[in-house]
Amino acid sequence: MRLFFALQPPADLAEALAGEALTLSRRYGGRPARPESIHLTLAFLGEVAAERLPDVLAAGRAVQVPEFDLTIDRFALWPHNGVLWAGCAPPADGLFRLVTDLREQLRASSIAFDGGSRFIPHVSLVRRVRTHGKLELPAPISRCWACSDFALIRSRLMAAGPDYAVVESFPLLPRGLSREPPN
Ligand code: ATP
Ligand code: MG
Repeated sequence: MRLFFALQPPADLAEALAGEALTLSRRYGGRPARPESIHLTLAFLGEVAAERLPDVLAAGRAVQVPEFDLTIDRFALWPHNGVLWAGCAPPADGLFRLVTDLREQLRASSIAFDGGSRFIPHVSLVRRVRTHGKLELPAPISRCWACSDFALIRSRLMAAGPDYAVVESFPLLPRGLSREPPN
């Protein structure tokens, strides 16, 4: 099965971002993300054998990082793959903590994932944008995303676009708690 870990926005933010995706796709072409498919990938595992699923779930459950907020505040385009995406304001420490911990858990269980070298937080909004030269992207936005859990998602690639199903979601720790208690 094709698996990845991701953050999924609350419904109102997913709707708002899908609205942006639609507007952008009307302007630049390409395939807009649907609200239910909007996510921020934390680790892409790709094809995983069914017998490894318990280890993958255990890795997700072992993550212990506190809840955090993200501010989605920018649009960008990757010309090499035609993905137009929304990004977040740095430093996004909480997010990087989550990604670091999750990836450590995966490595500890010898679960392979892609894109390990440099993590660029992005929410794909429109795919297959074809551009010649620089796009005039819309003005920055500012939307708060309160992150209180993340999910393991199974992806099925269909002609009409990917079909995602949550396998399990993993709560983050209440704010202010971390794995190492202060001494
Ligand atoms: P499609 O491939 O049909 O455009 P998709 O990319 O949304 O759909 P998947 O290919 O299953 O669906 O990918 C799921 C998520 O993992 C997406 O956010 C995608 O950008 C990310 N992803 C896919 N392949 C990789 C990879 N090799 N490295 C890092 N992230 C990846
Ligand atoms: Mg893909």
